[in-house]
Amino acid sequence: MRSLGPIGLAASGERRSGYFTFAADPGLAKYSWPFFSITGRRDGPLFLITAGIHAAEYTGIDAAIRLGNLLDPAQVRGHVVIIPLLNRPGFYERSIYVNPEDNDNMNRVFPGRLDGTWSERFAHWLLNEVVARCEYAVDLHAGDMIEDLVPFVTYRETGDERVDGRAKQMAEAYGAEWLVRAMPSGERAGLLFAAAAARGVAAMIAESGGIGQLEADAVARHVNGVQNILRAVEVLDGAPARVSPPRVLNRFEWLRSPFEGLFRCAVHVGDRVRKGQPLGEMVDLLGKPLGRIESPVEGIVLFVVTSPAIKKDGLLLGVGVPE
Ligand SMILES: [Zn+2]
Repeated sequence: MRSLGPIGLAASGERRSGYFTFAADPGLAKYSWPFFSITGRRDGPLFLITAGIHAAEYTGIDAAIRLGNLLDPAQVRGHVVIIPLLNRPGFYERSIYVNPEDNDNMNRVFPGRLDGTWSERFAHWLLNEVVARCEYAVDLHAGDMIEDLVPFVTYRETGDERVDGRAKQMAEAYGAEWLVRAMPSGERAGLLFAAAAARGVAAMIAESGGIGQLEADAVARHVNGVQNILRAVEVLDGAPARVSPPRVLNRFEWLRSPFEGLFRCAVHVGDRVRKGQPLGEMVDLLGKPLGRIESPVEGIVLFVVTSPAIKKDGLLLGVGVPE
């Protein structure tokens, strides 16, 4: 295989890196995206690693760049293709959540549309030209610039046993403590990994790090976790390290504020909370109480928004509910 959509692949036994674009769409072609291609001498699957669909989730972006320089073609079977920064318009703008081209969350617009917004067109081209042609896909995330989180992985069951079995094997090989098997409550669909799974790609998300930092341990967790996945699916030589299976969370409650104001958060990521437990308080800009935020469920605080400046309906935190 010579190319994966617009990405020219490395020759057998080689590494290639550079930039690609989607030339058929002038709005997209203003930008170029970094990529790495690592091709083994032995036949094998196409394994895609993406990051930076949220442009300030730096641990994922840096881990993908490190993997691109680290993986040895001599130890690879098949192809590994890495795109370390999907939200290219947002990176130097330090955009939180969204793409500055249209102020939309790029991880809510898949499968996209050929005649849609910038993000929808990007989603369409990326999914059809790149993602859907792969056997495996890992999308690396972190807490955003204003989010702290505990590391977790997530994948979606499709009903296709082969795809679901592969995704489960990947998620279990990463080495996270928590596995989320549900959609975030109250959120739009349209996530990249879910669209990939619907197209028959074994796909997952891994989350590590956050709050705009490039913390070494959080980057290393992604680098090691992805290498262990690559070994587990026999794309990378060597026996995978045995890691404890993650604990399963079957619901993912995302709490939003019914008020505009300042959030005095009373919990930390990783806290176990009871149903009805106060998680913090919203006050106005004179300190007048607006309302308590209570946990609707018993579970684990997986992420908190660390900025106290909250718009009405703004996201506050997420609680995962164990099996
Ligand atoms: Zn993200």
